[in-house]
Amino acid sequence: MVDFADTADQATFRREVEQFIEQNLPEQIRTRPDQVGRFQEEDGPDRNEQRVEATKQWRKALVDKGWIAPAWPKEYGGANLSPMEQFILNETFTETRAPRLGVPDVGSTIMVHGSDDQKKEFLPPMVRGETRWCQGYSEPGSGSDLASLQTRAVRDGDDFVINGQKIWTSGAHLANMIFALVRTDPEAPKHRGITYLLFPMDSPGISVRPLVQMSDARGFNEVFFEDVRVPAKNAVGEINRGWYVGATHLDFERSSIGSAIGQRQMLDALRNNLTKTRDEQPERSRLNRVDSPRSEFADRYIEAAVAKTLSQRVISMQARNLIPNYEASMTKVFSTEFNQRIARTATKLLGQYGQVRGGPEEYTPMRGRWATMYLSSVSSTIAGGTSEIQRNVIATRGLGLPRG
Ligand SMILES: Cc1cc2nc3c(=O)[nH]c(=O)nc-3n(C[C@H](O)[C@H](O)[C@H](O)COP(=O)(O)OP(=O)(O)OC[C@H]3O[C@@H](n4cnc5c(N)ncnc54)[C@H](O)[C@@H]3O)c2cc1C
Repeated sequence: MVDFADTADQATFRREVEQFIEQNLPEQIRTRPDQVGRFQEEDGPDRNEQRVEATKQWRKALVDKGWIAPAWPKEYGGANLSPMEQFILNETFTETRAPRLGVPDVGSTIMVHGSDDQKKEFLPPMVRGETRWCQGYSEPGSGSDLASLQTRAVRDGDDFVINGQKIWTSGAHLANMIFALVRTDPEAPKHRGITYLLFPMDSPGISVRPLVQMSDARGFNEVFFEDVRVPAKNAVGEINRGWYVGATHLDFERSSIGSAIGQRQMLDALRNNLTKTRDEQPERSRLNRVDSPRSEFADRYIEAAVAKTLSQRVISMQARNLIPNYEASMTKVFSTEFNQRIARTATKLLGQYGQVRGGPEEYTPMRGRWATMYLSSVSSTIAGGTSEIQRNVIATRGLGLPRG
């Protein structure tokens, strides 16, 4: 039998984390169980300003403790935590709904492939939250077949000069740094002429144009490069071997965890809302036909437990300094498709009310979050590599099946 119980040392560390959160997490950014998630639109600008300030205060407490990047050595702003301590830290933050404020995945990539100078230059500001990064991988003609990318970087003295275009670049309008894959040797086989570069977004020659999603989110952009000069020393890993550096990054990105507990919390919030509706507004509850998809709701709870187990596997690999590969693809495909199933079940359970995104609270259960999630969860099975590509990875690298 698998025993998930803490040892005495682990229990002590878990208490330390709980106490730290209790003592340091400002009230303004605590999330009540019925709030789960980011659906707090009714709060006015004053409240938002307070939250920005509270987040700064929380970041400072985490930076001082080294818990922004807990796995990293102390010299780069980490806390050198053991694998099991990292696991407990993650779990406790999610359970208590404390904002995690980690480092972007590019930090882990620099930690694996970067030079000492690059680590000193880029990691500490990342921990302090002074740099915001975006990912320049996809291009209009290169998404799933990323290795066909065409953005060109030509060597000129100590610099590369970049020309080309990226697309779907999340957060480029807010970022002050970018990590990008660029073609440095067009004659080489396509995987072998690519370099992984880091450079500031205010470099002359960069322009950003927004793309608006169907959920109205303005999350991603087109990014254009015209004669952008980047020092060659900003290449991570060997020049022309950036494909493999970039692939490490995707493995980190796909293995992002913590969502499993969040998904169960969403289901808990939905269950609480449905029970409340039944007790307080019996008429509306009849309208919602709460009884019919009951078994579907039960399935979602089973899947939440599966999602947690898949995440635990990935965490345990990361904890042993292994980079999850097809295991990360399994977690990504399950978790993102599960999000869509949660949104479908929720909108079904809430009947027509579940489709309303704005308006008075009595007509927008849980502030319209489910209708928004119904729309926004579509994109997560595309971002970071589509579900079809994840299944290809699982079939070939995980199961050893021949390539199709
Ligand atoms: C919300 C969101 C955020 C994103 N953020 C970023 C970002 O910050 N930076 C960045 O660089 N990119 C980003 N992307 C882009 C994302 O990585 C690409 O959209 C994704 O890799 C798919 O590429 P594509 O859109 O060109 O689709 P295509 O590759 O053209 O695929 C079209 C369809 O064909 C299928 N397909 C393609 N090849 C195969 C195959 N070999 N086997 C089976 N099916 C296949 C795909 O699964 C898909 O259904 C983001 C995307 C989204 C939706």
